[in-house]
Amino acid sequence: MLFELKSVFQNEGEEKQVSYKLDIAEIDIDGVFPFRTPIDVTATAKNRASLVSVALDINFDYTRNCDRCGEEFTRHMNLNFIHKLVQTLADDGNDDYIETPDYKLELDEIVISDILLALPQKNLCKDDCKGLCHICGKNLNEGDCSCDKRQIDPRLEILKQFMD
Ligand SMILES: [Zn+2]
Ligand SMILES: [Zn+2]
Repeated sequence: MLFELKSVFQNEGEEKQVSYKLDIAEIDIDGVFPFRTPIDVTATAKNRASLVSVALDINFDYTRNCDRCGEEFTRHMNLNFIHKLVQTLADDGNDDYIETPDYKLELDEIVISDILLALPQKNLCKDDCKGLCHICGKNLNEGDCSCDKRQIDPRLEILKQFMD
C-alpha cells in the first residue's frame, strides 16, 4: 500500500488515515506459516508542528505450536508503532527517521519488519502450560499421568549407589 502524504507534509495540523488488509500468509518463520488470515493495518499520518509521523495499528491472528506441549494455538495480537518521517535525511546513519523524498510511504515493508521484530521469542499456548510428560509423552494440560516424575539429580544417584 502506497501512502500518499504530500498534503500532510505541506499542511501543519493535517491528518490522513488509511486502513487495509495485508496478506502475509507466505511468510515463513522457523518453517511454519503463522499468518493464516490477512492482517489488519491502520496507518495514521499527522503533521504536528511541522513534524510528520505515522502511527501504525496492526491486528492479526498468530498461529504457532506451543514450545512445551506442541499443541497448535492461535493468539490475537495488537501491535502499535510510531515512525517519524522526513523528506530527506542529513545523516544516513539515523535509523529513527524514514525518508520519504517523494511524499510517498510504502507501508507493507514497514509493517512486515515491525511485526517480525516484535514477535515473541517464546511460543506458549498459555503461560502456565504444563508441557508433556518426559516419560510417557502425555499432554499434562489434559490431566496427570501415573509416571514417577521425581527428578533425581544424577550426582545424588551416584552417591546413592555408593552408599548402597
Ligand atoms: Zn502448551
Ligand atoms: Zn507420564
